[in-house]
Amino acid sequence: MILSDFHMHTKYCDGGNTVEEMVKAAVGKGMTAMGFSGHSYALYDIDCCMSPEGTAQYREDVEKYKELCDGIIKIYCGIEQDIYAPAPEAQYDYVIGSVHYIGDLSEPISVDYKPELLKKMADERFGGDIYALCGAYFEAVSQVVERTDCDIIGHFDLVSKFNEGDRLFDSSDPRYVKAWQAAADKLLKTGKLFEINTGAMSRGYRTSPYPSEDMMRYIADRGGRFVLSSDAHSADGIMYSFPQVEQRLSELGIVPVDFAEFLK
Ligand SMILES: [Zn+2]
Ligand SMILES: [Zn+2]
Repeated sequence: MILSDFHMHTKYCDGGNTVEEMVKAAVGKGMTAMGFSGHSYALYDIDCCMSPEGTAQYREDVEKYKELCDGIIKIYCGIEQDIYAPAPEAQYDYVIGSVHYIGDLSEPISVDYKPELLKKMADERFGGDIYALCGAYFEAVSQVVERTDCDIIGHFDLVSKFNEGDRLFDSSDPRYVKAWQAAADKLLKTGKLFEINTGAMSRGYRTSPYPSEDMMRYIADRGGRFVLSSDAHSADGIMYSFPQVEQRLSELGIVPVDFAEFLK
């Protein structure tokens, strides 16, 4: 049973709780390890990311609780590095590499903000062809390790956040499958961990984690390894649905790594 979680946000970016509140919740859940992963500073992501000053405060704050909680819970200071964000100036314990935007960053449209925005982007930038949009998304994802030097590949199929029941596109369409398989093949060569992320479940958009089971099977069959995380934006989202997801993963023959062990 996994009692750690390495993808979470605080008030320093777009989360709803402080570092202290998140730590208290994690201790209350009996967790052994936790990692913060604030959104890296990027001008095109100003509403969601940490400011340069906020980033410094975030690091100090997390360091403070690392010491305060010594012997109670192991705390790590990570960052969720957007693929196009400037490289972080400081060293982090680990990096999650993520794609949240594609295309023209002078007028940024995020793939995971609202379904209407995804459709708008498909219409305005991809001639109404959502599969072309998905192709561009996975092309970016395929570069996430080389561009961010991440340890964990964040929410591999974030573009499907609003696609529960295939309501926006057919996830078995050959163009979609070809696009994600090409990205997975390239990323598998890096040996980096793929994230299994329950964030869209906790926010009511999906009933299963990222990536889809087809993708998980494909990645696992080719030797890919996974880390389970919640992408919590509030204290109550930490380790969201982990027991249910672990149960399902064990049925699929997938055992996520213990990332705290991995970091040693
Ligand atoms: Zn993210
Ligand atoms: Zn996140």
